[in-house]
Amino acid sequence: MRLVLLGPPGAGKGTQAQWLKERFGIPHLSTGDMLREAVAAGSEIGRQAKAVMERGELVSDAIMVGVIRERLSQPDCARGFILDGFPRTLAQAEALDALLAERGEKLDAVIEFAVEPEVLVARIAGRFACAKCGAGYHERFKRPRVEGVCDVCGSTEFVRRADDNEEAVRRRLQAYLEQTAPLVAFYRARGVLRTVDGMASISEVSNAIARALEDVRS
Ligand code: ADP
Ligand code: ADP
Ligand code: ZN
Repeated sequence: MRLVLLGPPGAGKGTQAQWLKERFGIPHLSTGDMLREAVAAGSEIGRQAKAVMERGELVSDAIMVGVIRERLSQPDCARGFILDGFPRTLAQAEALDALLAERGEKLDAVIEFAVEPEVLVARIAGRFACAKCGAGYHERFKRPRVEGVCDVCGSTEFVRRADDNEEAVRRRLQAYLEQTAPLVAFYRARGVLRTVDGMASISEVSNAIARALEDVRS
């Protein structure tokens, strides 16, 4: 199963990817997570991406396509993958098509999260993650089952993202509308787009995605 999750920051892509990867046994490829790891490691890509990410702007297509090319060539992607946060521009979408075509592959589905912009700020403002395993949580909508303890790994340390502040969120929403939203029409024209109501609860969105993928081969 080769999937792309498409939606604005805070739409719920990472949250749904967490169960999709268990359900299909395929890796979750979050370009945001990969870039944050590169920044933390102080690699060349991390050095180039850090300030751009802090401002809430997009990292260059050349860097991003290179990162994805390298990641898709790893053996764990052979049976499929869940792309989260990539592609984000038409140039990236075209490069992805070309990369997959080289390998005789294509996308099975692009899941679009339809959300009203008003909820995104509240979702991002309450977002935090496990410092050890990266599992995502929300102060109101997804608290750990035991207060202060990660459901997945038991860690008691949590982190917030440096770019989850009002100014950067505003820029990220603008970047989404200008540069990423055109991908909806791009993938609709290719017949792979499935839209789910991202305003529903976390479990309702999961159910909608499961239904949308029923007729897609795994
Ligand atoms: P994205 O990966 O699209 O940026 P996340 O999956 O990180 O979004 O979700 C943003 C925040 O909103 C997280 O704190 C998450 O727990 C919460 N969240 C995700 N989906 C929903 C939902 N359907 N309803 C309410 N809160 C949600
Ligand atoms: P969100 O969860 O808010 O959707 P991500 O974690 O996907 O955000 O991305 C965080 C930041 O990383 C983006 O604001 C952008 O600077 C950079 N980034 C991630 N993926 C891409 C991409 N495909 N193209 C360009 N920049 C990207
Ligand atoms: Zn954890």
